[in-house]
Amino acid sequence: MPPAVARLYEAVVSLVREYRPAEELVSLETAYQYAVERHGLQLRKSGEPYMIHPLGVAEILASMRMDVPTIQTGLLHDVVEDTDTGIEEIAKRFGDDVARCVNGVTKLSKIDFYSPEDRQAENYRKMLLAMVDDIRVIIVKLADRLHNMRTLDYLTPERQERIAAETLEIYAPIAHRLGMGKMRGELEDLAFRYFDHDAYEEITKALEARRLANEESLHAVQQQVEAELRREGIPARVESRIKRPYSIYQKMKRQKIGVDQVYDLLALRIITDSVKNCYAALGVIHNEWRPVPGRIKDFIAMPRPNLYQALHTSVIGGHGTPFEVQIRTEEMHRVAEEGIAAHWKYKEGKKGPAPDDQRIAWLRHLVEWQREMRDSTDFMSTLKVDLYPDEVYTFSPRGKVVVLPKDATPIDFAYAIHSDVGNTCVGAKVNGRIVNLRYGLRNGDIVEILTQPNHLPSKDWLTVVKTSRARNRIRQVINQAARAQAIDIGEKYLEKEARRLGVALGRISKNDLDRVAGEYGFSKAEDLYAGLGYGRYSARQVLLKAAPDQVPAEAVPEKDSSVASDVVRPVAPAHDPGLVLRVKGSDDLLVYRAKCCNPISGEPIIGYVTRGKGVAVHSRVCSNVQSLLYEAERKIDVEWSRSGSDSFAVKLVIRTDDRPGLLNQLTSVLSQENTNIRSLEARSEAETGEGAIVEMTVDVRDKKQLEKLMGAMRRISGVRDVERLLN
Ligand code: MN
Repeated sequence: MPPAVARLYEAVVSLVREYRPAEELVSLETAYQYAVERHGLQLRKSGEPYMIHPLGVAEILASMRMDVPTIQTGLLHDVVEDTDTGIEEIAKRFGDDVARCVNGVTKLSKIDFYSPEDRQAENYRKMLLAMVDDIRVIIVKLADRLHNMRTLDYLTPERQERIAAETLEIYAPIAHRLGMGKMRGELEDLAFRYFDHDAYEEITKALEARRLANEESLHAVQQQVEAELRREGIPARVESRIKRPYSIYQKMKRQKIGVDQVYDLLALRIITDSVKNCYAALGVIHNEWRPVPGRIKDFIAMPRPNLYQALHTSVIGGHGTPFEVQIRTEEMHRVAEEGIAAHWKYKEGKKGPAPDDQRIAWLRHLVEWQREMRDSTDFMSTLKVDLYPDEVYTFSPRGKVVVLPKDATPIDFAYAIHSDVGNTCVGAKVNGRIVNLRYGLRNGDIVEILTQPNHLPSKDWLTVVKTSRARNRIRQVINQAARAQAIDIGEKYLEKEARRLGVALGRISKNDLDRVAGEYGFSKAEDLYAGLGYGRYSARQVLLKAAPDQVPAEAVPEKDSSVASDVVRPVAPAHDPGLVLRVKGSDDLLVYRAKCCNPISGEPIIGYVTRGKGVAVHSRVCSNVQSLLYEAERKIDVEWSRSGSDSFAVKLVIRTDDRPGLLNQLTSVLSQENTNIRSLEARSEAETGEGAIVEMTVDVRDKKQLEKLMGAMRRISGVRDVERLLN
């Protein structure tokens, strides 16, 4: 074992020994030995033994006082990624808890979160959090990144810049959101050096030049503050610091100023024992120095979304030098520095849709002071989280993040990329493997859509997709197909009617048809045909308008306007909530209930394409169906759509004993069901001794209601038989 490695391990052990009981060090040792064995003679880019890295990560975690499984995860985090060790092996040796965490870190390592687009960065951050099911995974990942940033020197400048940008855009903001101020600060300053080297140099040089002066005035101010606080009897310690290079940089960019114009480089921090003394300390400061207007901020009364609490103010110091003061309690300080890492342990928390900040706050509320848990061994074993239970974050092969609702399918993904991709989608690969189009996408899935030109979406997709975007696009295409069908039916309908009336369709000019189309408010003949196909007007009406002199006079009167409504009873098109029947695969076709059997909602039905009149819908038990279906290719699938408020007229024949009061009982059954009676006729068959016959036409919603009615009628004593007449 190289001495550097052994020394580093000893450093980790002595850190852990400070806050964990001795027996746990055994499992740490096992993890260490195993990592050493697996990484073997691997070297880092710097030429050092590879183990320097996992040990460095473990050291960061130990200094954050993480529990032993977390530190084991730190030691083992690259074993699966960089050696041929499987995750099952980790589970066998170190338990599910550690295995799950190592697996989580490995998963994150496989994804390149770098995004040059600003608007994608937030999605990447959310995805990273969404992919994590144990909060310790994020903490190990951040420690991993921090150690990599500390040792970035040996990579090529391009890699350095890329990793630095990713750190600034993804990891530092996550540390910030989790309230880990110290981690965030170090990540930012390390990354800044590589991200914008010139600016970094400029700022550090300027700071260096003013260092003496700054340190002197800082020291003076600090002593003065300490003296004032002592005089007022406020127990406190005072820390002073010069602002971090990256926060100076951000200020320069935000306010578009040069480094010379950033004057409040100095900052004091007062850490006291109670909230009351925070405000008292603020009073002391403002009594001594003049506050800068608008710079007093009370994050105690109104904590930041990441639960940061403190009082902030800026004051003008003795020589006219402004400085910033932060005042907080010890507890607030710990939260500000370590954030989520300062807390552990679950509390009962409510899950469910919540704004982002609330989710993080929820996460933060889940855990308590780690200190209190020092002797507990398994308190984190169930620390699972699901930060974004309603969303799934997926990738295109080019690294674009696509955010979809939970359980979204590759079809949703395809439509999210582009309508054309959706329409021509015939298959999908997820993480390189072909999947079913119904596959429920998971966080981090890389989705590749297979397309085929001229392919059209299937209507079944409507029941599969989860996004309204996909649903609308699919509908659009299907409606276009239905329109094409309607045009076809309309044309045939017109031809047939022309033949019947002896009108020579060939002699009607295109101009005339366009004119008629115009009369109906359309711009072209095609729309006219579609209207015919949808049953909006009759072919005879069109012919009368197009060639009035050709339509035989005797055909004009009583039949006019009635052809369509007579033969065909058009049902409202799809967007009308009244629609009760529809052809599978197309929404707008002219569909009507066949008069021979008058099917009602809920009955098994079958469609039959009639010549020029649309689709007739028969009950499957209709005697006409067998002969009609002789031409099998004209058969078409139809289905009931929502029944809504529609009702169907049904004729019933009821045979009863001939006794008074029976009719009354029958009608009260109907009124109990809120059924409308259209007509009723009762006659006594006294002479034949056959009792009475009641014939009535009633409105029913569907088959179920009809059956209920007929059942109730049959239960009336004296009712012998209830029968439905089909026509
Ligand atoms: Mn690593």
